[in-house]
Amino acid sequence: MDFKLNEDQEDIKKAAREFAEREFTRELIEECDREEKYPMELVKKARKLGFSTIKIPEEYGGMGMSLVEECLVTEEFYRVSAGLGNACLSSSFGTELIILFGNEEQKEKYLRWVTEKNGISAMASTEPEAGSDVASVKTKIVKDGDEWVVNGVKTFITNGSVCDFVLVLGRTFEGKKKHEGLTFAIVESKSKGFKATKIKNKLGLRASDTAEIVLKDVRIGEENILGEPGKGFYQLMEFFNHTRPRVAAQGVGIAQGALELAINYVKQRKQFDQPIGAFQHTQFKLAEIATRIQAARLLTWQAAWYCSIGKPRPELSSMAKWFAGETAVIAADWCVQFHGGYGYIGEYPAERYYRDAKIIEIYEGVKEIQKQIISRQILGRL
Ligand SMILES: Cc1cc2nc3c(=O)[nH]c(=O)nc-3n(C[C@H](O)[C@H](O)[C@H](O)COP(=O)(O)OP(=O)(O)OC[C@H]3O[C@@H](n4cnc5c(N)ncnc54)[C@H](O)[C@@H]3O)c2cc1C
Repeated sequence: MDFKLNEDQEDIKKAAREFAEREFTRELIEECDREEKYPMELVKKARKLGFSTIKIPEEYGGMGMSLVEECLVTEEFYRVSAGLGNACLSSSFGTELIILFGNEEQKEKYLRWVTEKNGISAMASTEPEAGSDVASVKTKIVKDGDEWVVNGVKTFITNGSVCDFVLVLGRTFEGKKKHEGLTFAIVESKSKGFKATKIKNKLGLRASDTAEIVLKDVRIGEENILGEPGKGFYQLMEFFNHTRPRVAAQGVGIAQGALELAINYVKQRKQFDQPIGAFQHTQFKLAEIATRIQAARLLTWQAAWYCSIGKPRPELSSMAKWFAGETAVIAADWCVQFHGGYGYIGEYPAERYYRDAKIIEIYEGVKEIQKQIISRQILGRL
């Protein structure tokens, strides 16, 4: 057992910290948050340095590293800004499906689009009536001669209105169980019948693009079907095993950033003739949060490490995501609390961490679904 990061990992973590601290300026963070602006130039800058193509194999122009390195970068970006971090690092969201299940032609075309032509990807499973119960999606992906036709509505799609292509989950046939018969199709946003509308007024993560996508008689070729038709649900579950540790790393980053803000503040704010950090209650709360963050970080690394050796452990990915999400929410809550009234107003960054943290408990499976996965693993199906 070795808990030490290797030299490459230390280097990439350091480079990510320097990039985030240099490029995520306070002005840009606040402007994108206030105006819900997608920072395209920043996304391109991060792409150029390889931060958003870490897991894409070198043979397709990516960095060829593992989920462990991706988690290290993710923590550093989210520590400074979850909104800008999400815009940069989720710009290749969904390519994991192509890495895992795509054929050679699909990898050549779509992974290279991302690594060499600044292509932005997305993954669309959620629908207005199918969130946690993703197997109940109503989008249809149906064969018609040599082509396939996609019809449906997807909602809350990250990068929906800025993406070049999206991996869409839909139903191809009715199986014995509703998990059967689902298929992923790669749909290009320039296709006829593709319409994306940005969803505004999010609580947090406001620099990240989120959209509703309507697909009306979108025609795609056979070459854009991912793997074997009917296996989409199982592909999605495998995808989540590989992406949930990264969401956990987002939570660790938000929590770490909130803790550092709190530490700075409690040292300089005085009440009752002493820094508020001198109260034992403050010290114990900070100790609890720091301990939780370290536990969440180690769980995240462990879950990511199993993915990196090709043996993902679904229950570990879910434990990491749930625990890190809860830790981010707790850390951000106490960060606001220590700031008192100043924590409640936009002039101080504490309230932004508070707004950003909540998403970790929601997307890529709400916390209840993570607990369901963990309990199924330890109890079996009753
Ligand atoms: C900013 C943002 C970005 C997103 N990006 C994407 C994306 O890129 N692609 C994509 O496909 N989706 C995306 N989503 C969608 C996200 O994954 C879903 O919102 C999430 O899975 C929950 O689905 P839902 O909103 O329909 O909530 P529901 O499924 O309706 O759940 C609501 C609540 O019901 C309860 N609940 C539900 N099921 C259970 C259960 N089995 N046991 C106990 N309680 C339960 C929980 O309290 C849960 O929080 C995004 C969402 C947001 C907000």
